[in-house]
Amino acid sequence: MASIFSKIVNGEIPAWKVAEDDKFLAFLDINPLAEGHTLVIPKKEVDYIFDIEDPLYAEYFTFAKKVSKAVREVIPCKRIGVAVIGLEVPHAHIHLIPINNIYDIDFSRPKLKFEPEQFKATAAKIAAKVQL
Ligand code: 5GP
Repeated sequence: MASIFSKIVNGEIPAWKVAEDDKFLAFLDINPLAEGHTLVIPKKEVDYIFDIEDPLYAEYFTFAKKVSKAVREVIPCKRIGVAVIGLEVPHAHIHLIPINNIYDIDFSRPKLKFEPEQFKATAAKIAAKVQL
């Protein structure tokens, strides 16, 4: 069965997209730890990130790097924290999270709630800054 992220790739369910090319997609996490918390996925469904074949693996991180720059331009923060967990959704994804301290990337914290309009506005601001 297709992963929830493949359904986003195929347009079957919506997402607040921030960047896309033929191989990769970035969109806002629906349960964010911070404003601008972004997930970056390969469009081809692979469960475990380290099973992604070369050279796609390197291209994937290059794409994530470009997205991280745009997130950092839009969301004031010390750094973009990077995490790979993958325990919930079996489709490789890199979390890009604006952080100012270690607690900002603590996945055991309660997630933030934003109205759809705010997700939409944040995604549009980040998308406008992405240079692929
Ligand atoms: P992980 O697999 O890394 O433990 O967590 C999966 C992440 O995907 C979580 O942060 C969760 O909020 C996010 N997520 C799960 N389902 C959806 C969805 O349908 N849309 C979006 N945008 N994010 C999702």
